[in-house]
Amino acid sequence: MNEDPRISRFQQMVEADPENELGQFSLGKAYLEAGRFQEAVTPLSRAVELNPRMSKAYQLLGDALHKTSRQEEAIDVVTRGVTVADEQGDRMPRDAMAEMLSQWGAPVPAFKEAVRLRPAEATAGAATPGFQCSRCGRPGGHLNKQPFKGPLGEKILENVCTTCWQEWIAMGTKVINELGLVLSTPDGQQTYDQYMIEYLQLEDR
Ligand SMILES: [Zn+2]
Repeated sequence: MNEDPRISRFQQMVEADPENELGQFSLGKAYLEAGRFQEAVTPLSRAVELNPRMSKAYQLLGDALHKTSRQEEAIDVVTRGVTVADEQGDRMPRDAMAEMLSQWGAPVPAFKEAVRLRPAEATAGAATPGFQCSRCGRPGGHLNKQPFKGPLGEKILENVCTTCWQEWIAMGTKVINELGLVLSTPDGQQTYDQYMIEYLQLEDR
């Protein structure tokens, strides 16, 4: 059987470093997209354990549990996920999970998004009204200039805070080493960008 090359790549990453939240998340997501719901459950559960603030991981895990008829667990995970997403101002996953709960006939926790409008904790970098980091949901501290040229660099300037960008730099180095990526090749660059987009939650931006 021909293994999906994306899945093999993420499996390789998870084997190289089981503590890598992004590797676990990406593997689970790839399984889910391939319709392999059963297999998606373990890596997505690990992603949530490794980073309990990763709201999108709750959403995908809930979906995988639901599709494997583990409905009670699905409701439990998604209920926690709504609260996590709400606290961080991750509106898209929050609304998607609230929708899942109501479709399943489960109670939806009340949002208390106002709490999130506290002053930015990390205000290194610039502040522009209306800016909110796509990854951590904080309202300030974006970069002063594009980190690199091109549309993706532009998106990062518009959506990502300085702290999350620096965290990605550290994670990106791990990704390069663990997958042996060569950034001078189109394939290497594409894989790297794909991880960056997932890590910084820029997919829907
Ligand atoms: Zn951030």
